[in-house]
Amino acid sequence: MDKETDVVIAGTGVGGLFTALNLPRDIQIVMITKSDLKSSDSFLAQGGICVMRDEEDYDGYFEDTMRAGHYENRKESVDIMLRGSREVIDALVGYGVEFARENGEFLYTREGAHSRPRILFHEDITGEEITSKLLAGVKRCPNITIYEYTTMTDIIEEDGMCRGIMVRTKENEQFSILAQNTVLATGGIGGRYQHSTNFPHLTGDALDIAKEHNIRMENMDYVQFHPTTLYSEKPGRRFLISESVRGEGAVLYNKKKERFVNELLPRDVVAEAIRRQMKEDGTDYVWLSMEYIEKEVILNHFPHIYKHCLEEGYDVTCECIPVVPAQHYFMGGIWVDSDSQTSMKQLFAVGETSCNGVHGANRLASNSLLESLVFAKRAAEKIKDK
Ligand SMILES: Cc1cc2nc3c(=O)[nH]c(=O)nc-3n(C[C@H](O)[C@H](O)[C@H](O)COP(=O)(O)OP(=O)(O)OC[C@H]3O[C@@H](n4cnc5c(N)ncnc54)[C@H](O)[C@@H]3O)c2cc1C
Repeated sequence: MDKETDVVIAGTGVGGLFTALNLPRDIQIVMITKSDLKSSDSFLAQGGICVMRDEEDYDGYFEDTMRAGHYENRKESVDIMLRGSREVIDALVGYGVEFARENGEFLYTREGAHSRPRILFHEDITGEEITSKLLAGVKRCPNITIYEYTTMTDIIEEDGMCRGIMVRTKENEQFSILAQNTVLATGGIGGRYQHSTNFPHLTGDALDIAKEHNIRMENMDYVQFHPTTLYSEKPGRRFLISESVRGEGAVLYNKKKERFVNELLPRDVVAEAIRRQMKEDGTDYVWLSMEYIEKEVILNHFPHIYKHCLEEGYDVTCECIPVVPAQHYFMGGIWVDSDSQTSMKQLFAVGETSCNGVHGANRLASNSLLESLVFAKRAAEKIKDK
């Protein structure tokens, strides 16, 4: 049952899919995912994807990313992401991704800590729109084979090089997939937390494997908590109330229904302010009000948030909802260079499991889909050139 291929990719979120799509069609690629194809955080992204609007936007976008990251970002990586953003958006449109438009022109929205609107979106399901179109693209490629419910359990190391991976199926069958190049695209670590917006099966497996093989890691304590998830006493994944809701004018209230923070500050600052306020009020949540957003904007821009809250018993067009911070994103990870190469030969890492330094100590909203895509493409180009 052991297999051999040119490239093996663990993970079928945007990082894995875009790497596969940018590799030549005349090589064999095997992709695996621990769960089904739709269960990746990439499908959950709501708010949108950033793009550098024009040359004049460079300085502002660069500074916004650096400021949010507490200036601990790798400048070279930020530059690469900004300069690569338009090309990635064009490629997505080429795969059939539809972003909101007005009179044929892109509509841009804004989220916390952005100095101007530069986020493209598709209603409040941007991740689903992008990932499903990339997945459809991958399925059209006869050189790419995908195995669902197949978990990477280890990498195969020989003479300090990566020769592929070991996997286990749902039926507990174990086998190796030998490959000339291996790409780790296993996403975040939310499954390790009690309260997280991530899928529970995302448990940072590649990080454990990297640690075992002495592969370089970076910023392992840089975890982002999203300030606003819908408070619920039920167990399981927390439902995100996208930052763009606050970008469009939603406000936060304490128990006396008074504002206590500038809602557009970076995520870590707002999350900390909410935590302090909850402590002061002796509550498990604060309130989020959409009263200053027109009903039409709520229904058109945030239809899924509206519907989900309604199902939970809240009509956001006329009442506040309880919100609480939850684990959301991992800025650290497996150290990679600007071509997504890890410290082990023939081993690459892309997406949330990698750390190319774009986000520094804290991610700017809507930068992660873009970062995953730009650096996935670079991984593919590096593999092609080898
Ligand atoms: C609710 C939510 C909203 C978000 N909104 C936005 C947004 O608006 N804009 C933005 O830019 N970012 C957003 N993000 C972040 C963004 O979605 C993720 O950072 C990004 O999609 C990560 O992509 P990825 O390919 O690295 O990982 P994922 O898309 O999470 O994919 C990981 C893949 O790895 C697989 N996997 C994991 N472990 C193993 C293993 N051991 N073996 C085999 N396969 C494995 C999984 O099954 C999955 O296929 C949001 C995240 C969440 C959770």
